[in-house]
Amino acid sequence: MSALPRTPQPVSTTVPKPQLYIDGKWVEGESTIEIAIVDPATGATLAKGRGASDAQVDAAAAAAARAFAAWAAMPAYDRGQILRSAAAKLRANADELARVMTLEQGKPFAEAKAEILGSCEIIEWNADEGRRLYGRLVPSRQSNVQVQVVHEPVGPVAAFTPWNFPMTTPVRKITGSLAAGCTCVIKPAEETPLTCLAIVRALEESGLPAGVLNVVYGDAAAISTRLIDNPAIRKISFTGSTRVGRMLAEHAGRMLKKATLELGGHAPVVVFEDADLERAVPQIMALKYKNAGQICISPTRFIVHEKIFAPFVERFANTATSLKVGPGLDEKTTMGPLANGRRATAITSLIDDAVKAGATIAAQGSAPEGGHFRGPTVLTKIPLTARVMTEEPFGPLALVNSFKTFDEAMAEANRLPYGLASYVFTRDLANAQRSAAAIESGMVAFNSARVAWPEAPFGGVKDSGSGSEGGSEGLEGYTVTKTVSLSW
Ligand code: NAD
Repeated sequence: MSALPRTPQPVSTTVPKPQLYIDGKWVEGESTIEIAIVDPATGATLAKGRGASDAQVDAAAAAAARAFAAWAAMPAYDRGQILRSAAAKLRANADELARVMTLEQGKPFAEAKAEILGSCEIIEWNADEGRRLYGRLVPSRQSNVQVQVVHEPVGPVAAFTPWNFPMTTPVRKITGSLAAGCTCVIKPAEETPLTCLAIVRALEESGLPAGVLNVVYGDAAAISTRLIDNPAIRKISFTGSTRVGRMLAEHAGRMLKKATLELGGHAPVVVFEDADLERAVPQIMALKYKNAGQICISPTRFIVHEKIFAPFVERFANTATSLKVGPGLDEKTTMGPLANGRRATAITSLIDDAVKAGATIAAQGSAPEGGHFRGPTVLTKIPLTARVMTEEPFGPLALVNSFKTFDEAMAEANRLPYGLASYVFTRDLANAQRSAAAIESGMVAFNSARVAWPEAPFGGVKDSGSGSEGGSEGLEGYTVTKTVSLSW
């Protein structure tokens, strides 16, 4: 029997209503701020809700404070079981959650699903790592004294997450803090709260006690100010722009609260003369245009040896223009729209400015009309005076310049105040080791585009932030140390 021709199924654009979650209850926001979930591929409003009032923000912090003692006292094994169960629920529902993520954020369905499955691995790793928050015994000076160093949960945490990874970033902060025994109030980005709420639902269905996790959003500045001021909150964790991170860190510093900051980047990619271009280009190109370039570790400044500059640019430009830009729910799409109008406007302005400064457009892929689409673009020979050589583009824009000597390449790699991720392609071990030592960044990948692993710290230096998420370092960031001297 011959297979019937496949009839295209209509794409459902139904999404859940955005609500708040406070003290174990789903509630409507009570502020006058309206939250609209907008599909970046069409500009259509998919759902509306209201932001949190001051009283609701206070209630969320109070709930996290009340729930803290019992949650901190729960054995790490039992906390981990709740987290593991939530991961299983998210994994089982990955297709539906990916559809909602694509609608609220724009990324292609396959990327959204990969983000959900990758986030489940982070949850499971945090669940287990919570059981390994070991302290230590310090050799004592006296035979009747034992000196212990123990890690204790820091207390209720306020977490602030952006719109580019609506699941991974909230998962890192929620499950890192909960696994360490902290409670949490999270403010997801106003553009993409639905995916964060799905994490909460999975945890609630897995038996998370009321108050351990609370979700508020609305007026980002007012909410963050209120939470940082609240004496119950003992730590903040922020992912987003350097501009906002600096403001929140200053405030947290005045209040003497711990802060983990994962901020902007402008990642250099150094391609030495001996690099294997066949291997390098597809990998780094895929990461460049993933999520339409809206990734803090996105490869941005390509610093390519002059002898391989022309073949590199040719290969890169060909692959960039072969991308199919379109709505994320269209199966053929390999790059979706920008997540919001701010990014789309910014990208056009950065390209125009670079061209005015003397840069060449080596490739510019086409993009559909309507929505916030921009074609993947490759600029070459960009003068340092162009704004994009210092501002994080956060969009589908690759900047390719050439270098002659090792020192020149390293000077360019370290020229900016950012220091999040960097990438180096070379077959020479000595080159690799010299670069690893010279590059100022929190993460560096050689002959690969992967720097993020659940088991390893993820974070930056200089203006890219401080502290880590992921790895044992990530969990330690949610703890304080206590020295216990036992005498007999
Ligand atoms: P923005 O600086 O206005 O906001 C960045 C993020 O911080 C958003 O999620 C926003 O909701 C949140 N935010 C803003 N003000 C806040 C406040 N006072 N308190 C708490 N949270 C607050 O910029 P944007 O237009 O949303 O994004 C543009 C720039 O942000 C990008 O160019 C990029 O540099 C940076 N960004 C970085 C990341 C990252 O993963 N590090 C993610 C998203 C955006």
